[in-house]
Amino acid sequence: MLMKGVIFSGMRPTGRLHIGNYFGALTNWVKLQNEYTCYYGVVDWHALTTGYSETTMVKDNIKEMVIDWLSAGIDPDKCNLLIQSKVPEHAELHLLLSMITPVAWLERNPVLKEQVRDLDLKENMGYGLLGYPVLMASDILIYKSNAVPVGEDQSPHIELAREIGRRFNYFYENVFPIPDLILSKTPKIPGIDGKKMSKSLKNDINLSDKPEDIRNKVLSMITDPEKIRLSDPGHPEVCTVFKYHEIFNQKEVSSIESDCKKAKLGCVACKKRLAEILIDSFHSFREKRKYYEENTHIVWDILMEGSKRARKVAEKTLEEVRQAMKIDYE
Ligand code: ADP
Repeated sequence: MLMKGVIFSGMRPTGRLHIGNYFGALTNWVKLQNEYTCYYGVVDWHALTTGYSETTMVKDNIKEMVIDWLSAGIDPDKCNLLIQSKVPEHAELHLLLSMITPVAWLERNPVLKEQVRDLDLKENMGYGLLGYPVLMASDILIYKSNAVPVGEDQSPHIELAREIGRRFNYFYENVFPIPDLILSKTPKIPGIDGKKMSKSLKNDINLSDKPEDIRNKVLSMITDPEKIRLSDPGHPEVCTVFKYHEIFNQKEVSSIESDCKKAKLGCVACKKRLAEILIDSFHSFREKRKYYEENTHIVWDILMEGSKRARKVAEKTLEEVRQAMKIDYE
């Protein structure tokens, strides 16, 4: 089949995936694997940019995350699943690109500013974290990617990867395509507290959560503060539970909206309905997950094979890079 181009996207192995990761990026990964040559990376070095002092969980997190990918429909026969550190060419390209990347570009990165604030890093911000987007640019450019499917929070990083690619092509030779950002229909999923869903904010619902955990999390979600009793008319536009119905429950969303506004539907009933919809949506995911949980060797085999295939492509690009930079001494 004729492919439309090359795709790279990665996720940090920080554990099991949440529905923000799924609806922001993974649904697109599954769709695009039929249309593009895809490289999907476990970006373990990226996980160390903030989690450098406690690394014992990295290996287990890789396994859990990739089980989630496979259970959600990622097909290792259609795409290359790789571990970043198993393709060390990413690191060499990172080093070379770090030479041409102005520090000012990195210091004004809004994602970095948010992380430093949220994780209270200040003096502890590492050199690696500052260079996060340069490493990400290397991950993307080394496969000569044409597009990168990610959630909205990553768009400043994609913009930097584009700038870095353009700068390389301008100084040396036209080696890299400039990759486009691909967003899903739901590029920013709120967490149960209404802020962006994120593992670090502990406001997430995981794909693999047990039905009773999903019920409890949904019941604790923030709703319209002016709707206290069933008889109070609600304002769905300010309610996180309603946002979820818009995303996950398109069949019933308009009746829920009007019943809420007319004070015919209470928040608890509305939440219970949502919880059942979410539990149902991930039923087959939970079933598939059981299989991989019992056969984890398959996960590691897939990753080692995929990393080998990716490495061949990465080596070739790196040769072109060295030639373009006139540092290919033979
Ligand atoms: P986290 O922020 O939970 O640590 P990552 O940064 O590893 O997750 O993100 C993995 C992918 O999931 C990225 O493409 C990111 O843009 C996407 N993503 C993360 N959180 C959300 C969210 N709340 N809504 C939409 N997409 C998200």
